[in-house]
Amino acid sequence: MTVTTLPRARHWSDAAACAQHPDLFIPENDGDPDYTTAKRICRACPVIEQCLTAAMAEEKGADRHVRAGVRGGLTPGERARKHRQEARAKAASQPPRKDPADTSDCGTQAAYQRHVKRHEVIDQACRDAHTEWQRERRAAAKSAGAAV
Ligand code: SF4
Ligand SMILES: [Zn+2]
Repeated sequence: MTVTTLPRARHWSDAAACAQHPDLFIPENDGDPDYTTAKRICRACPVIEQCLTAAMAEEKGADRHVRAGVRGGLTPGERARKHRQEARAKAASQPPRKDPADTSDCGTQAAYQRHVKRHEVIDQACRDAHTEWQRERRAAAKSAGAAV
């Protein structure tokens, strides 16, 4: 008789190379621990990428003093630096904010409304356009009223 067993769902950490040496990765003394051996073990670890991704996601922008031990081949200080670099790169890749000094359609009611919505300083051309728009509206309302 053949027994078929489905493969058990595995988590990447099941393959962690550090499982045998926890003390090397999170040393007791928090002075200036020597992470050389831990980092060497990480370099040969089959799940180094998943491990680093998980650490970065968990720790987010934490200070290096809050990050504990070597994870994914990087020391707390190295992970903190990596976070800062990635945050800077992300900020640099954001599309530039629309120029608040966009004056391409100034002198129209639409531009006036845009200035108001964005809390921008309203230039004279747009003020005039808005005054004119109000005047026209009043006039239209008046003639509509007179027509009744
Ligand atoms: S990369 Fe390093 S810390 Fe992460 S699981 Fe592997 S050995 Fe452990
Ligand atoms: Zn304007």
